Amino acid sequence: MTDPADAPPADPRDHKPARDEMRGRVILVTGAGDGIGRAVALALAEHGATLILGGRTTRKLEKTYDDILAGGGAKPSIAPLNLEKALAPDYDAVATGIEKEYGRLDGLLHNAGILGQLSPIEHYDVPTWCRVLHVNLTAAFALTQVCLPMLKNSADAAVLFTSSSVGRKGRALWGAYAASKFATEGLAQVLADETRALGRLRVNCINPGPTRTAMRLQAYPAENREALREPASLVNAYLFLLGPASRGITGRSFDAQ
Ligand code: NDP
Repeated sequence: MTDPADAPPADPRDHKPARDEMRGRVILVTGAGDGIGRAVALALAEHGATLILGGRTTRKLEKTYDDILAGGGAKPSIAPLNLEKALAPDYDAVATGIEKEYGRLDGLLHNAGILGQLSPIEHYDVPTWCRVLHVNLTAAFALTQVCLPMLKNSADAAVLFTSSSVGRKGRALWGAYAASKFATEGLAQVLADETRALGRLRVNCINPGPTRTAMRLQAYPAENREALREPASLVNAYLFLLGPASRGITGRSFDAQ
């Protein structure tokens, strides 16, 4: 007989979120001013979550903020945080600000990321390598660390890291980006293992797949953009992994397409 615990989890791509599915949850999204992060933030708010919009460009975060309010969502907060430059006090300030304003955190989506350059390892620019590893991996680790006490206190919390297909199988020219995404998968697995016994906190990865954003354009400037999925078409998989539907699922890596 098969143990139900061994059964494969439901597929996030099939998720049909209920209208108020995220109600009562306070969720921090990084890179919420553009691309996939913006679309997911809007969808989370539409389904009842209270958002903290993290990111680098305040003007873009303000646009997401305004659009959430215009859509009838709960009043969000903006947390400007440049992940390339932020130091320990900046991370602490974000966590302290959330604690002070809401007294809780139920979800953390690590979405912000940079591509760096597409180049063979032999010629890869070392400072660019360091920058990509820092923004895509180390900053997510540091932000997770300061948020963990609040996440562990939540009755039902989710941390979701953003991976990529090149974070599962290496591909020529993808250098630091691929390495950072492999490492992100590793970081998520370690944290999932460390928090599994708690039972109230899940940690997973999502690979959005080819999506029509600025980053994709940078990587594939000549491709037909019309053939790519829009960020808004992926959001249900994110809602699954950040919301109550994924309770009990931890240490896994999923595809949004
Ligand atoms: P975008 O370039 O459209 O958005 C990236 C977001 O990250 C922006 O909001 C950007 O801020 C933010 N960001 C970048 N650098 C920093 C920084 N130093 N500090 C704070 N925020 C920063 O990319 P996508 O929406 O495409 O990517 C989202 C995630 O999905 C990334 O992790 C990416 O690796 C992953 N992904 C994307 C795929 C795709 O096809 N699009 C495929 C596989 C994975 P700002 O608004 O200021 O530019």
